[in-house]
Amino acid sequence: MLTRRPTDNELAAQLPAYALRVVDALEAAGYEAWVVGGWVRDALIGNPSHDVDVCSSAPWEDAARVLRAAGIAVHETGTKHGTVTAVVEGKPVETTTYRVEGTYSDLRHPDDVRFVRDVREDLARRDFTVNAMAFHPRRGLLDLFGGVDDLAAGVIRCVGDPRARFGEDALRVLRAVRFAARMGFVVEEATHEALVACAGELSHIAQERIGQEVDGILASGRMGWALMAETEVMCAAIPELRPLVGFDQQSPYHAYDVLEHTARVCQAVEAFCCGMPSRELRWAALLHDIAKPQTFTIGEDGRGHFYGHPEAGAKVARKVMGRLAIPGDVVRAATALVRMHDRPTQATTKSVRRSLVKLEQLCPGRAVPLAFALLDLKRADSLAKAPSCRDYVAELGKIEAVLRDEVRLGPTLSVRDLAVGGADIIAACGMRPGPGVGKALDALLERVVSGELENTREALLAAIRP
Ligand code: ATP
Ligand code: MG
Repeated sequence: MLTRRPTDNELAAQLPAYALRVVDALEAAGYEAWVVGGWVRDALIGNPSHDVDVCSSAPWEDAARVLRAAGIAVHETGTKHGTVTAVVEGKPVETTTYRVEGTYSDLRHPDDVRFVRDVREDLARRDFTVNAMAFHPRRGLLDLFGGVDDLAAGVIRCVGDPRARFGEDALRVLRAVRFAARMGFVVEEATHEALVACAGELSHIAQERIGQEVDGILASGRMGWALMAETEVMCAAIPELRPLVGFDQQSPYHAYDVLEHTARVCQAVEAFCCGMPSRELRWAALLHDIAKPQTFTIGEDGRGHFYGHPEAGAKVARKVMGRLAIPGDVVRAATALVRMHDRPTQATTKSVRRSLVKLEQLCPGRAVPLAFALLDLKRADSLAKAPSCRDYVAELGKIEAVLRDEVRLGPTLSVRDLAVGGADIIAACGMRPGPGVGKALDALLERVVSGELENTREALLAAIRP
């Protein structure tokens, strides 16, 4: 949040020299140029590391010509929308002709863009006040819509009429939540009301774009906030979340409905991992109880039960993440965590080894980091249930100590880690190659995991000899 607005000179001092070269080259040729968007926003709040975008009165053909004449490499990256990318000292600077967008008949892509002469028109088509400022190293900050005030107040507010703006491009609905989440802001009231009214329009947006924005909200570490403060938007982005809203678990172990529990788990994994949980852990926190409503039963004890919800949840999670085009390795790992989140574990070598073997089966090559992530998910899950469940967090600490010992010793995660192989079984037992050999190795792994056998060649050979 903005506590003291930097002076124009301070902002100018932050502007990288490579960006200044682009602005100066265009202006030396008689055009007007400004730095716009994310760099201006982030420099004002003291984070000038954002890449620099420039907009200018030069038609893109002229911008390309002028920049090349100044010895700057130019790539024609989006000329349909007036964008070329200048590369100075290896740094890309997107340079776009002032433009406004035509009508949006598909709620996402403007039917046409129209180039304009005035930067003020270009700023007016931008989504949020904090994104709609321009800066020039000598002319200073151009803030037509109160962007600085909104940075100071910590709010995301649409430029112009929020409903109209979300109606033009429904992706802005999720962008509003992502920017608020990332900056630790809230959504201004009228903009929030429009979000609720327009969230349904997200159904017109390509799933992979929704996936990118949801991923961005997760990466901000404030998904817990997004679920509670902007429930309607999150349910429109992932409709499978909707049954969680207000779902009473009817259990003494749960003080919250499933949505609030989920939000608290998302928040708690951030706390347990010092704000740096892995991407798969964040996705798993979001989706771990997604199948609770569909598996709900009332037992003879009169309490709510959710038998099979981790397995059913893993299936839903795979479907949701696949649809949102989340990379396959993240999907596999997150799904494994969802599936394992409720599995009982004890602070014993045997129990820890079983979890490792199971994780290795679900996600080959990833068992060890996932075992630690699973403990963080379980900690967060316990903390977000009822106060009576919080003692389990201490137990999870003991389990982690056992896991560390196991990792230090080099864990046996699969038959590949056994000190004997298929050829040894064939030689020792006179067995033919085939599925029987695999079964014999599985049986050995089980005996190693349970602590019955040591994973040494002698011990295993002695065990397999008839
Ligand atoms: P980020 O750090 O997420 O890239 P950014 O501000 O650079 O933040 P971009 O999505 O890269 O955001 O867009 C650059 C600028 O273009 C924004 O700051 C905003 O002014 C404008 N913009 C981008 N997308 C939209 C949109 N869908 N509707 C209106 N304006 C937009
Ligand atoms: Mg950007």
